[in-house]
Amino acid sequence: MHCTPLSELRQNPSDLPWVVQKYGGTSVGKFLQVIASDIVPSYLETNRVTIVCSARSGETKEKGTTNQLLRAAEEALTTGSNKHLEIVKEITADHLKAARSVIKNPTILEKLEAQIEKDCLKLRSFLQAAEIIDEISPRSRDIIAGIGELLSCSIVTAILQDNGIDSQLVVLNNIIDREFTTLDQEFYDYLSQQLGDVVRQCGDKIPVLTGFFGNVPGSLLTTIGRGYTDLCAALVSVGLDAQELQIWKEVDGVFTADPRKVSDARLLPNITPEEAAELTYYGSEVIHPFTMEQVIRAEIPIRIKNVENPAGSGTIIFPEDQKLVLEGAVSTAATANDSRQKLPTAVTIKDNICVLNVHSNRKNVSHGFLAKIFATLDEYGVVVDLISTSEVHVSMALGSDMVQANLDKAIVDLEQLGTVDVLRDMAILSLVGKQMKNTVGTAGKMFTALASAGVNIEIISQGASEINISCVVDKANALSAMKAIHKGLLSAEALQEAVL
Ligand code: ASP
Ligand code: MG
Repeated sequence: MHCTPLSELRQNPSDLPWVVQKYGGTSVGKFLQVIASDIVPSYLETNRVTIVCSARSGETKEKGTTNQLLRAAEEALTTGSNKHLEIVKEITADHLKAARSVIKNPTILEKLEAQIEKDCLKLRSFLQAAEIIDEISPRSRDIIAGIGELLSCSIVTAILQDNGIDSQLVVLNNIIDREFTTLDQEFYDYLSQQLGDVVRQCGDKIPVLTGFFGNVPGSLLTTIGRGYTDLCAALVSVGLDAQELQIWKEVDGVFTADPRKVSDARLLPNITPEEAAELTYYGSEVIHPFTMEQVIRAEIPIRIKNVENPAGSGTIIFPEDQKLVLEGAVSTAATANDSRQKLPTAVTIKDNICVLNVHSNRKNVSHGFLAKIFATLDEYGVVVDLISTSEVHVSMALGSDMVQANLDKAIVDLEQLGTVDVLRDMAILSLVGKQMKNTVGTAGKMFTALASAGVNIEIISQGASEINISCVVDKANALSAMKAIHKGLLSAEALQEAVL
């Protein structure tokens, strides 16, 4: 990608525009070398670069460091379990192995190994302390999770140095030094400013920021949740008034459907933030939904890029009503006349859904009925993904992340209101597209496609935003349903037909 020797590349000279690069767990898990020797250097001639990283993941997020750390926290509180100590050993070994397999310079490696050992020892002590006091507060759980980013960023900082790039690890645990009670715009503005300042203090060095950013009101994992690194990168971009926020993953961008499941899925050059948020809520993890609002306020485009194909142009997330002046981007004016606008944008599946039907016993008037249902679900922390209701009957789709025991308790209470039945192994199928607002017939085509594929529909819902039509189907039919919708509404042939 580049031919200038690294030593001659200008690092962070003050007159170049900022690019913020966020690397996801699998990217720092498997593609460290290409990041350090290829991707980062390729931007240094034209940009000042800031890097934000997630914790390392292997093949899946399930086995990633953050999940391991959260499991260790649980085990520390389980009487008689020593599993947390084993997990610490595994995490230490994994990071040492990763470091040894990529770092060539013995001095850099030695320093990094010592750092990893030290951070893991701290983790161990922290868990042991929790075990003794038999308590982990939400804040402590955040700190434990944040060690994942600390470890991965230490490795990234070292491998950049190993490749001749002067880099600096920036730990954000203490970046918030004022008390905030809510996550409001004032908080975001303050944090953006702090992050911008801390980056600028790195001078010519390439800052590597832990995506974990400490003392958030109400705790990071509960108020922002998993995927907080995206939000961190967004706030850094705002603080620097960056030219672009890049989210590096292992896919070329956002497709019309999951390309692993639908072979003729098309890469989308651009989508709106609302579409990206809907796709994320309904199963295609694009980006943390809180992220978008912040960068969009600052009119900074987000670009999804592929570490396995850095030359690809990726997908740009940018609002339709803002003017995009970026090389290689489709301008909003051009997009408005684009034939693609006649089609929806993408179809997605959210698996492992369970459907809860409540039929009123008619002892309640309708408003009391709905209020009681939601009060009960709220009490047990059961989150509803999608709902369809009539006066005496409510059907709700619940995501897989709910705790089974809580659902069981909620069901017992709901049975006071009427008959309850539960359908398991279902999936939510969502068709997303900003064009739906102005186009008549999308729902008709969607359900015709499902009918011709012989797919039975359990619940149908279209939100007020009109950029998402969702239905719940049997999980066993979800893939064929998605293929049928893609063929009828999103494929190259559908595009052709829309133009004619
Ligand atoms: N490592 C954290 C998680 O898995 C944060 C992130 O990746 O954004 O949720
Ligand atoms: Mg992530």
